[in-house]
Amino acid sequence: MSGFDIVVNNGLWFDGTGVPGLRRNLGIRDGVVAEVSIDPLLAGPDTEVIDAADKWVLPGFVDVHTHYDAEVLVSPGLPESVRHGVTTVVLGSCSLSTVYSTPQESADLFSRVEAVPHDAVLRILQEKKTWTGPAAYAAALDALPLSPNVAAFIGHSGHRNFYDAVIVGCPDETLIGKNFGEVGDIRGVHPVDAYLDLVVKYGKKLRWRTTIANHRPKYAKKLASSSGVQMGFGDVGAHLRNMAFYNYPVRLLKRVNDAQGDRKPFLTVERAIHRLTGELADWYGLDAGHLRKGDRADLVVIDPAGFDESVEGLFEATVPEYNGISRMVNRSDGAAVATVINGRLVYRDGAFAAGFGIEKTGRFLRAGENSPAMESVRASVAP
Ligand SMILES: [Zn+2]
Repeated sequence: MSGFDIVVNNGLWFDGTGVPGLRRNLGIRDGVVAEVSIDPLLAGPDTEVIDAADKWVLPGFVDVHTHYDAEVLVSPGLPESVRHGVTTVVLGSCSLSTVYSTPQESADLFSRVEAVPHDAVLRILQEKKTWTGPAAYAAALDALPLSPNVAAFIGHSGHRNFYDAVIVGCPDETLIGKNFGEVGDIRGVHPVDAYLDLVVKYGKKLRWRTTIANHRPKYAKKLASSSGVQMGFGDVGAHLRNMAFYNYPVRLLKRVNDAQGDRKPFLTVERAIHRLTGELADWYGLDAGHLRKGDRADLVVIDPAGFDESVEGLFEATVPEYNGISRMVNRSDGAAVATVINGRLVYRDGAFAAGFGIEKTGRFLRAGENSPAMESVRASVAP
């Protein structure tokens, strides 16, 4: 039958539970997966058709560690994540949250710990903060035209290391490419003093990027396959000038795919997808991360042919909501080629859908609760 809002044909479908992929066709209607079929699904006149031949169709990624707390209030589309197939983001990581802190405290916390611009956070919170506790906070987020789904912590812990911080911009060009530890060694001072001296001398003209973890592939693979480790430390929305892991789920899938090609597999594709979707959602009690019949339709179409060097690349994009500063982002547009959130196609082939960031597609997800769309479809598909 037709009457689907979206049909995704011929893809290798992974349901997010860790079972191997199957060649299936998906029909999406009213925000949920209405059909998973071996047979081709007919498209109606208004059906959006995604041809996923040679591609993977999987649950949208769940990014459990982000710092979009201020950004989401003024840019509820969160395009830097959605374009990489992230359909649920969790706020309130690293001990920081706006739930109980004042606008001034939030500006101090997010600028000092997460390198988000102080004046922008202060301005945004002064304008937008209407809550004094969790219930009103959740309601305020849910009133935004969210593109992805959002969940939140109230707040908890942090860390950092100067020896991995490499200078990428400095009026003294002889320092570019060196880390603060090396500069300290050359000058006979502590790395923190070397850093502070350069900040005093060059101010905002000094830029650096930092390796926060996982730069040794052998150990990163070991961690990625350890059941005691969760897949999720993108830290997106923070450290705007120094880091960009918006597409970390795509990076893990590329690493898994490359390792299989090299005949040195460390995770199966289905297990990696499970780690990035259903495993996280189940652990946090979120109604997300699965793509079975009856599940809420959050999905990403991945093209393994797009696993090229752009996946690990760093690019720049301005942030109008943060005074137009340039931030590091990811642009691996050949890898995550389509993103669907609650049954609505929000991103495809490098472009956002009309109404993105203006019309609401995401919602606030409460731990331990199923979304209304999921309840209604369960009732309608029940025998
Ligand atoms: Zn963090």
